[in-house]
Amino acid sequence: SGTLHVVATPIGNLGDLPPRALEVLKSVAAVCAEDTRRTRQLLSHFGLERPLLALHQHNEDAQAAQLVARLQGGESLALVSDAGTPLVSDPGFRLVRAARAAGVRVSPVPGPCAAIAALSVAGLPSDRFAFEGFLPAKAAARRERLARLAGETRTLIFYESAHRIAETLDDLVAAFGAGRPAALARELTKLFETVLDGPLGALRERVAADPDQRKGEFVLIVQGAGEDADARIAEGQRLYARLSEYLK
Ligand code: SAM
Repeated sequence: SGTLHVVATPIGNLGDLPPRALEVLKSVAAVCAEDTRRTRQLLSHFGLERPLLALHQHNEDAQAAQLVARLQGGESLALVSDAGTPLVSDPGFRLVRAARAAGVRVSPVPGPCAAIAALSVAGLPSDRFAFEGFLPAKAAARRERLARLAGETRTLIFYESAHRIAETLDDLVAAFGAGRPAALARELTKLFETVLDGPLGALRERVAADPDQRKGEFVLIVQGAGEDADARIAEGQRLYARLSEYLK
């Protein structure tokens, strides 16, 4: 059977397309995309023209069966999303699951992911983190989710859009307290890239005061509850050292 290639694409800067992505996109029978218009633009920027298949969250189950049949018939396909890594707050999970269940080879072309890019520059503990994606849209559900996360000790990563960022910061301050260390990464790899850090309360003030800080795409990183991160890392290193002694 063919291979399903899961291909990451840039999150803003077209220079970030993984070099192997082009090779793979050139080689496949078709490219499954979230938004075929946007993917066509991306491909044509690189001088590529491939048959495109739309894969939406709402038709993914139905499509997966057809795509798996094509893969089993020997065709290789690529899966991309509008930006970043497929399946990360984007469609693809059902297709990948169906392909794996059918014994089809699934292979990644790793590359940009907004969550990991933000974590890599936030300056917050990164040894243990939890990706929370988008919070629920409805205010009550969002607050309930945050209440459940308030005691989480891992660093938390959230995605947020421009029209809800101010509200979400309000909710985060209410749920976690104004003093919790956090970082707000905006428009990563793009012209107006900004990474603000500070306690949640200060980030909220900053965003409320400056409309420019409410424009674009956001990743919010929030330090986990309670534990002192440095102490935790030191403890990890101590355990590792003791374990190494045993294994000598
Ligand atoms: N699959 C993508 C990935 O790997 O990052 C994420 C797709 S999700 C539908 C889109 C969200 O990712 C945006 O609302 C924003 O929270 C985040 N995002 C994407 N690009 C970004 C960027 N350049 N800077 C900051 N956040 C970004």
